[in-house]
Amino acid sequence: MSSAESPVTRFAPSPTGFLHIGGARTALFNWAYAKGHKGKMLLRIEDTDRERSNPAAVDAILDGLKWLGLNWDGEAISQYSRMQRHAEVANELLKAGNAYYCYCTPAELTAMREKAEAEKRPIRYDGTWRDRDPSTAPAGVKPVIRFRSPQEGETVINDRAQGRVVIPNKDLDDLIILRSDGNPTYNLSVVVDDHDMGVTHIIRGVDHLTNAARQSQIYLAMGWAVPDMTHVPLIHGPDGAKLSKRHGALGVEAYRAMGYVPAALRNYLARLGWSHGDDEIFSTEQLVEWFELEGVNNSPARFDFAKLENLNGHYIRHMADVDLLNAFMGFLPFVEGGPELLGKIDDAMQAKLVKAMPGLKERAKTLVELQTSSQYLFAHRPLPLDEKAKGLLNDEGKAALQALHPLLAASNEWTAPALEAIVKAHAEATGIKLGKFAQPLRASLTGTSTSPGIFDVLEVLGREEALGRIADQLPQG
Ligand code: GLU
Repeated sequence: MSSAESPVTRFAPSPTGFLHIGGARTALFNWAYAKGHKGKMLLRIEDTDRERSNPAAVDAILDGLKWLGLNWDGEAISQYSRMQRHAEVANELLKAGNAYYCYCTPAELTAMREKAEAEKRPIRYDGTWRDRDPSTAPAGVKPVIRFRSPQEGETVINDRAQGRVVIPNKDLDDLIILRSDGNPTYNLSVVVDDHDMGVTHIIRGVDHLTNAARQSQIYLAMGWAVPDMTHVPLIHGPDGAKLSKRHGALGVEAYRAMGYVPAALRNYLARLGWSHGDDEIFSTEQLVEWFELEGVNNSPARFDFAKLENLNGHYIRHMADVDLLNAFMGFLPFVEGGPELLGKIDDAMQAKLVKAMPGLKERAKTLVELQTSSQYLFAHRPLPLDEKAKGLLNDEGKAALQALHPLLAASNEWTAPALEAIVKAHAEATGIKLGKFAQPLRASLTGTSTSPGIFDVLEVLGREEALGRIADQLPQG
């Protein structure tokens, strides 16, 4: 492709499970590149493995992409639905002499394998039918079609991330492209689809690098242009080992349920295997503007939950209160206790939450933490107290509340600064530390020992509810 054309990328997941985090990163790179270069990102569902593919997994992938904000162009294409076309190309290769019928029986192939193993050689098809006259074919054996791959020389992939990758052709045996039942095989399907879809740039995991060599041979045999290739490094765990579930090898829906916001996850994933100088925190607009394939690294990236959490906290703190409320409400259906809570968020509660957000978001690294810290808004009088809150509401704590209640009740202004001034003045006048008042207040207002700034809590709850909660803890009840 000439650089003047707009690029076409594609994301090509196999629908055998959820959209896992590595796949999400691949999709993000394809999306950012296409978007930043006024191109298109297509979506192809590689569903040819009928036993392992299922419709629920397709939905989960589409859902995950949508949640992450990675929209694709046009309709998703089913690879399975294109089988006819793949078989057609296999026959074209056959006609042109770039492929041939192979009549080896399973027993012959087993013998070939065992011989290679005994001789400690890599297992490869030995070319039995490569040059044999098909008229000598045994009766009753349905042949496969094998690609006639070059035996001399080498196949070179000029990979944007991996550099110049050279694979000696002697290491690539004659691949089956059409099975005896007429079904095409994976590498053929990928090439035909990428070509027919007009894909100019392939960006995918480095685990496909060997496939890239085989695919490149098929392109050349068909006289098709080989797309520009970028094989993205794997994602490892923080210890450098293969990414385990505990260390983050999960589907994006798990990240949604853990309370990460899409913008933070996009930012985090972008940094896994790609860099732009030392920039760690950047917007999606910046990513799109900056994303070049040259920035893709060639060594494994390390997934680090602590970093993701901090980044998510940053995004939460910088979100507009209303946007954060929307993100919170969008998150609740996916988490335990969330749907119930969502049912309680009427207009009045929405207003309360927006008002409480500045205080809540200072402390929340995830929407799960926001869910916990906003509990006090949903609680009903008399509030249940946790153990620490009970401890804070000892005799001394209750005495503090008793002194404060009439002072607060007398305030003609119910705002955080006005209420803070009252409590501070009282603490100073009595020579008692502010904390001796603030902590019992917190316990009575939230039922816990941690919360956003207590004066904000007073204001957000409103005069009647706040005074009621305090009164509930007074000795006379
Ligand atoms: N379906 C493959 C996978 O999910 C990707 C194939 C490709 O990108 O060429 O790993």
